[in-house]
Amino acid sequence: MRMGVRPSARQLAARERHAAISRAAWRRAEAVRAVMLAPECAATECGARVAQRGHLMCRDHWLSLPLELRLVILRSQAAGHVRSYQDAVTAAVDLIDNGRVGL
Ligand SMILES: [Zn+2]
Repeated sequence: MRMGVRPSARQLAARERHAAISRAAWRRAEAVRAVMLAPECAATECGARVAQRGHLMCRDHWLSLPLELRLVILRSQAAGHVRSYQDAVTAAVDLIDNGRVGL
């Protein structure tokens, strides 16, 4: 792009897309942060306190999840893969909320 030239409609659209992606990424990061700071189990109806800060769920709900999903959560968290982590946490909470696993 030459300096002093007004951005084209295509460039403006690209900037808006980029801003929207950044906002979505920010919202996901905030959701993960809320989980990380929450002293309560992430299962919607549970409300039990977790063993320590940074734990996602109470022991019973955590152990009710399929092992493979627990591993995805732990590995994506350790790797700092926010999107994968958030997707896995959402899947875990959905499983519990829909009664497909749980207590
Ligand atoms: Zn729980």
